[in-house]
Amino acid sequence: MKIESTIQGLSESLKTARTNQKIIGLVPTMGNLHQGHLNLVREARKKCDIVVVSIFVNPIQFGPNEDYDSYPRTLEQDSKLLEEVGCDYIFAPTVEQMYGNQPRLTNISVSGITADLCGLQRPGHFDGVAVVVTKLFNIVRPEIAFFGEKDFQQLAVIRQFVRDLNMPIEITGVPIARAEDGLALSSRNGYLSEEHRKTAPIIHQCLKIAEQDLQQGKKLADVLANIASTLTQAGFVIDYVEARTPELQKIEEFNQNIVLFIAAKIGTTRLIDNLQVQHNA
Ligand code: AMP
Repeated sequence: MKIESTIQGLSESLKTARTNQKIIGLVPTMGNLHQGHLNLVREARKKCDIVVVSIFVNPIQFGPNEDYDSYPRTLEQDSKLLEEVGCDYIFAPTVEQMYGNQPRLTNISVSGITADLCGLQRPGHFDGVAVVVTKLFNIVRPEIAFFGEKDFQQLAVIRQFVRDLNMPIEITGVPIARAEDGLALSSRNGYLSEEHRKTAPIIHQCLKIAEQDLQQGKKLADVLANIASTLTQAGFVIDYVEARTPELQKIEEFNQNIVLFIAAKIGTTRLIDNLQVQHNA
């Protein structure tokens, strides 16, 4: 495994692979890797000849009051984990390497599906994601790229601009990896106090109960209200509790397969989770 910190270095390294028509897979991350990230790499390992994992804390996807400065940067530990799981190249550029010194005048903005859910509390976030992912696609030129369903809206946004702009890349979604108590793994879980870490799995418990309730015929609006009151009682400050189609369209009733979405703060940590609920007609 090799660590590349420059675009040129990575391009040189991938040249032979490309001329030999090897399938290149890309797993974009912001580092501080956990089993969720590593599952993406394992999936890439299965499908690709060459696996590139990018580690880049992307400043333009953070809002002014978000955790860009304090976001955990743990390259040494990450490289050990990636070595074990079978990554070929880590691409870990600096901000200057990615954005240069000239002002950036180009944006990539997906409308509609970014208007709410995380888009509402985090204006500009998905533009920042779309720009950095497109840059990474252009730098690495992978055949396949891997993203987690943990960030379901992000995955939908990426699929959308890839389709809209005819980017020649297959997008693969990977299921959410969870801790034993159900909490969706996230680099931000490290911010939780011991007490809040104990409370945090309630989010997943609410989603599982909601799934059961829906499949037993309870009304969608009641089920969502029930999640909201359980979370509030447990001390969460809710950002949203929503049900959508897998394409993120709004729905009033549970009459097809849906996705339940939660974003909530416990203390100062904002957690997100989702669950796909099958409608068995
Ligand atoms: P991040 O480093 O948070 O930007 O995440 C990098 C990639 O890992 C994204 O595609 C995330 O959706 C994915 N990811 C993060 N946490 C999980 C998880 N618990 N399960 C599956 N994928 C995840």
